[in-house]
Amino acid sequence: MPPPVKLAIIGGGPSAFYVASRLLSLLPLNDPMSPPLRVHMYDRLWAPHGLVRYGVAPDHPEVKNCTNKFDTTATDPRFHFFGNVNVGSTPLHSIPHALHLPLTSILNNYSHLLFATGCTMPTLHPAIPPSVCCISALSLVHWYTQHPSRPPPPALDKISHLTIIGQGNVSLDIARILLTSPSVLRQYDVPEHVLEVLSRSTIKHVSIVGRRGPLEAAFTTKELREMINLPEASMIPIEPNLLIPPSGVTLTRQQRRTLELLQKGSKNPPGSTPKSWSLHFYRSPASITPPSSASALDMATLTLAHTRLDPATCRAVPTGESSTLPTSLVVTSLGFHADPETTFFDPALRHLRAYGGRIACSKGSALKNIYASGWAANGAKGVIASTMIDAYAVASTILSDIVPSSKAVITAVPPPPEMEIAPDELLNHHPDLDALPSEIVHGIKDGMVTQYDDWKVIDAEEIRRGRALGKERERMGWDEVPSFIALSRARP
Ligand code: NAP
Repeated sequence: MPPPVKLAIIGGGPSAFYVASRLLSLLPLNDPMSPPLRVHMYDRLWAPHGLVRYGVAPDHPEVKNCTNKFDTTATDPRFHFFGNVNVGSTPLHSIPHALHLPLTSILNNYSHLLFATGCTMPTLHPAIPPSVCCISALSLVHWYTQHPSRPPPPALDKISHLTIIGQGNVSLDIARILLTSPSVLRQYDVPEHVLEVLSRSTIKHVSIVGRRGPLEAAFTTKELREMINLPEASMIPIEPNLLIPPSGVTLTRQQRRTLELLQKGSKNPPGSTPKSWSLHFYRSPASITPPSSASALDMATLTLAHTRLDPATCRAVPTGESSTLPTSLVVTSLGFHADPETTFFDPALRHLRAYGGRIACSKGSALKNIYASGWAANGAKGVIASTMIDAYAVASTILSDIVPSSKAVITAVPPPPEMEIAPDELLNHHPDLDALPSEIVHGIKDGMVTQYDDWKVIDAEEIRRGRALGKERERMGWDEVPSFIALSRARP
């Protein structure tokens, strides 16, 4: 039988759960060929599921169905979840209540380590840094999902025009939420305090700005169709010449559908609704001048450099012209990158230095038994289904190190040929399978560290509270969690 395996996973989002679930099922509990195995998952957030809980738009509840699978994974007795634990070299200031666990505590206690830490930082635009009139998309998303970092609510009651920079799915998620009536959103997982702010919103128009053209837009057709069909908003028609594809170009199915949808325009004719939205192509932010007074009528001035597509590189290049757009608030939605504080962060890649699921040292050799999956390994791209496919491949790579003869190994992603598995002394090759870092033992006792059973009790309570309000769930905040857990643990 192979030697015991004790895997620590840092991160508790979809990629972490998919790797855990795959590995646990590839090494069945009662199979004599399976080594003794423990999978311990650590998340700096007190609730599990990462982006599924704190990123998916509330009006897309079906996307969250993957949590049923994660619940099943958590019933495996070899699996444990520890929430509100920030593993890293520095304490985390954005979540002051998270227990700080140095990486060395993990290295001393585990034989294998997976980074599934995601891309938690918003990519900002140097020309328009965060200010009173410019916030990141992440701050808005974290506000409406009640993320433990608790960003302030946007002053939607003082805003008539909002501009989103970037044309990805996160931009459309935000535009859709802001242009949908709170009476429709009320049925979903939208906290009451968020609904209250949304119900006071005075937003009349949302402009969504992209530096390239309709054929290069990062959003997908499903999300565009949802915008087109918004019941209470209409789209400003796009200049027809922008919707003519260059001659000789073969369009992909997605590009063809995008052009068709944009040519057709919104379900509601322009001007027929109190709210509207528009797509602005070939525009890139150059500067922003704040309003001269705090009056709600006074707007900031956003200067947009005009761009064109360089056919050779497919990149946006400036034409030298510019124009201005008066706007109340700018939201930058330019994608995400990994936290530079994370060990093995590569500044050039803006995510961890990982190849084929293996973490590499700075000289390029793969580090034995240290892995990365999901956005932490590949950057912030793809939907949950693609994250699952990547996670399954990483699970196979881990399996290939544990049981090289396993048939499931054939799907493992091999490391590039020039990469050697570097021998290392980083991890503990003979860990006590059931021991926990002492910080975690104390944190559980103090009620500062959450476990999956705690989460399931809170999950049931959130759903119960939601049902009483006629909605999917009403979220609990950390201010209530420790006392609620203490009460539920004390119950016989
Ligand atoms: P994204 O898809 O990468 O879109 C980023 C946008 O920002 C693009 O329009 C990009 O333009 C623009 N951008 C980046 N840097 C810029 C700069 N310096 N100046 C001007 N524009 C800039 O990122 P995302 O919307 O954050 O989404 C991340 C991932 O999550 C994507 O894979 C997305 O599909 C997925 N997601 C899916 C859903 C869903 O399925 N409903 C919902 C949310 C997110 P260029 O294209 O020109 O670079």
